[in-house]
Amino acid sequence: MHVLILGGTAEARRLAELVTAGPYGRVTTSLAGRVAAPRTPPGELRVGGFGGPGGLAAWLRDHAVDAVVDATHPFAATITGNAAEAAALTGVPLLVLRRPGWRATEGDRWYETGSLAGAAALLPSLGRRVFLTTGRGGLAAFAGDTGDLWFLVRSVDPPEPPHPARMEALLDRGPFTLDGERELLRRHRIDVLVTKDSGGAATAPKLTAARESGLPVVVVRRPPVPDGVPVAATADAALGWLTR
Ligand code: NAP
Repeated sequence: MHVLILGGTAEARRLAELVTAGPYGRVTTSLAGRVAAPRTPPGELRVGGFGGPGGLAAWLRDHAVDAVVDATHPFAATITGNAAEAAALTGVPLLVLRRPGWRATEGDRWYETGSLAGAAALLPSLGRRVFLTTGRGGLAAFAGDTGDLWFLVRSVDPPEPPHPARMEALLDRGPFTLDGERELLRRHRIDVLVTKDSGGAATAPKLTAARESGLPVVVVRRPPVPDGVPVAATADAALGWLTR
């Protein structure tokens, strides 16, 4: 069996570990190439775009791929759509590996929105000192006239323009701790947090820290998974699908 994992997440690396540890055959992980020094999984690695759904379909045929697992980030909607199209073109089975989204609990003050632009529009009514954790792609949504808003922008690699006019960059990569997140909110006098509904434990402590401090949180909802594509919530469940 030759499995192509569309990667860029901890779940993708975990699945590559599981497949390479067993008697299942080859695994190739594909990365977009956005991060300068990515954490690399075991197995084979390729980096860079395929050139749209047609390019991905050609890659699947040329490399005799038997199954594709789209384990990209829940917000990487273009590659997920491309994978669905390529699977339909080639008949190669596709699974989406997607960790569950977060759920608000008692004490949370969440403001849900469907886009980064929607998040930017909500901010002036919620606070002045913003902890922006949506990643460096999409900062343009916060680069317009944001009045007296100040941003603490956390990302793996340095933000590039267009980005908010008044900002400080904090280069870091999860997992993050609750103590660390509490300290960040305190030190920077944060009064509103912005996050995508990425799900998972690695970046969830910021939500707990915000809840403890009574801070509003703008949560950007996930794009939907394409119709008809099966979804697994964990790498173990994805391995189960592969072996079936
Ligand atoms: P995207 O908007 O869905 O995809 C844009 C283009 O990037 C795709 O059309 C594809 O190019 C290429 N691409 C994306 N993922 C790829 C992969 N795993 N292998 C090869 N090509 C890929 O993606 P994105 O939101 O920019 O995310 C890029 C990568 O960063 C993904 O692998 C994702 O898992 C990871 N990531 C994203 C986020 C996020 O918030 N979006 C957060 C953490 C990690 P072609 O059309 O040329 O094939």
